[in-house]
Amino acid sequence: MTTPLLAVQRVDKRYPNGTVALEDVRLDIEAGEFVSLLGPSGCGKSTLLKMFAGIEAPSHGHLRWWGGPFSTVGTPGRRMSMVFQEATLMPWASVADNVRLPLDLAGVPRREADARVSEALAGVGLAKFGAARPRELSGGMQMRASLARALVTEPDLLLLDEPFGALDEFTRNRLDSDLRTLWQRRNMTVVFVTHSIYEAVYLSSRVVVMQARPGRVIADVGIDGPQSRDEGWRVSAPFIDYCSTLSARISEAHAAQGDHYEGVQA
Ligand code: ADP
Repeated sequence: MTTPLLAVQRVDKRYPNGTVALEDVRLDIEAGEFVSLLGPSGCGKSTLLKMFAGIEAPSHGHLRWWGGPFSTVGTPGRRMSMVFQEATLMPWASVADNVRLPLDLAGVPRREADARVSEALAGVGLAKFGAARPRELSGGMQMRASLARALVTEPDLLLLDEPFGALDEFTRNRLDSDLRTLWQRRNMTVVFVTHSIYEAVYLSSRVVVMQARPGRVIADVGIDGPQSRDEGWRVSAPFIDYCSTLSARISEAHAAQGDHYEGVQA
């Protein structure tokens, strides 16, 4: 048996105001997976992702990263980056300076850092925009810059919290497609938070479905789609089957709880 890259062992999270954000969450994520955490607003997706990033600690239970404590994260072969819902770029700095920030903080020499920034910008389709200021870019391009900043450190684990949720559907689809290609090209594990069933099925090798009050895992579905996914995957019979199955599982869980079904885009 291999050690999972991320192990969540009977984790509860109660915030100081008494909100129980997560209850008895158990989950293993293996190296190389593309896992989406899918569920309606308030089901604890962001809280769980923040725990993966070491920003929040569990109230009960344990997390392990590569079989060890959080202090081992950041060492070679165990690098982690996170992309937030907003691009969070420094408005006064150029796109290249923004992307170089994690390398500057790590003390990477300027010449090497600049080469890596150019490569990261090219990887997200922004090769010509290094000198631009963030405000000169569209929302989608700003998210690309944010993605480049996360990728410039060559993470083994990439965490994304609804990164494309504020973008129009066309831009979002493009970014989803590019993210999937980046994941395929690089040897990394991705955990992606979304409330869109379509986006989860398009992107993932596995979808972990969560439900609110209290936040918990209600389904864990492997997506046996093609390695290379294009627009054809979005309209294929298996894609539609996976979307229907997930939608039904979420509706059933809500009905069992006597809830209205809201917050997840089918
Ligand atoms: P999701 O990402 O699925 O929308 P969150 O993890 O953001 O869910 O939130 C789960 C629950 O925890 C929600 O009820 C939310 O209001 C609550 N919550 C999140 N962060 C905090 C916090 N810092 N303090 C108190 N309650 C919080």
